[in-house]
Amino acid sequence: MRRNNFLALLNKAKNEGRDFLFEYEAKSILKEYGIPTTKFYLAKSEQEIDKIINELNFPCVAKITSTKVIHKSEIGGVIIGINGKDELIKAYKKLAYIAQQNNIPLEGVIIEEQAEQGIEAIIGVIKDPIFGHVIMFGTGGIYTEAFRDVSFKVLPVNKKDLFDLVNETKLGLILKNSRGKKYDLNILVENLEKVVSLIEENPEIIEMDLNPVLIYESNIKVVDARMRFHVI
Ligand code: ADP
Ligand code: MG
Repeated sequence: MRRNNFLALLNKAKNEGRDFLFEYEAKSILKEYGIPTTKFYLAKSEQEIDKIINELNFPCVAKITSTKVIHKSEIGGVIIGINGKDELIKAYKKLAYIAQQNNIPLEGVIIEEQAEQGIEAIIGVIKDPIFGHVIMFGTGGIYTEAFRDVSFKVLPVNKKDLFDLVNETKLGLILKNSRGKKYDLNILVENLEKVVSLIEENPEIIEMDLNPVLIYESNIKVVDARMRFHVI
């Protein structure tokens, strides 16, 4: 079932000339694999905000969705800390304006739960021409490139490999030695196992970028997700 849902999204993307899934599509796949992510809605017009307003908690986050945008914040396409309906409508208008200014089509605006602060990690997958699928874990968020604190394992992997993956990074050290906080690495590794299942069941994915993933003491939450696949 979840495989069929993935294939349906993949075909929809292909038909629209995309080789990647939108954040909201990628998050719907994560949900099916039991990987915790933010609650989200897609508003295709300003009017559609009315349909979801009663289900929303504030503050919330609004992000641009466009076939032409891969790194949303590079063009100011991520607005956080939105408090109330008026601010949300203003944010929608702003994102629509940014799309217009950059001459890109606006598919809609994702409106999502604003996650509580946590430790920012990255979970990634790439398909290497020689090794095949490789899973990556390390320091995420805006420091990903600066710290280059990531570790890799070639699939298939077992539980021990995934513990090693975490333990080989500085972030792993931080998680084990944070004063006053006890991060449960078992929960992190269980979620890494779910990521591995997702890739093994859907091998068309050649690149997956979950960044940031927020790590809490007894949970994790994926805040941004991107999946790219091979187009034949
Ligand atoms: P990009 O496509 O530019 O990578 P992101 O969705 O990762 O966009 O958003 C950029 C930053 O905004 C994130 O690194 C995170 O710090 C913050 N952010 C995005 N979505 C949320 C959210 N739902 N809750 C809290 N912070 C968020
Ligand atoms: Mg991101």
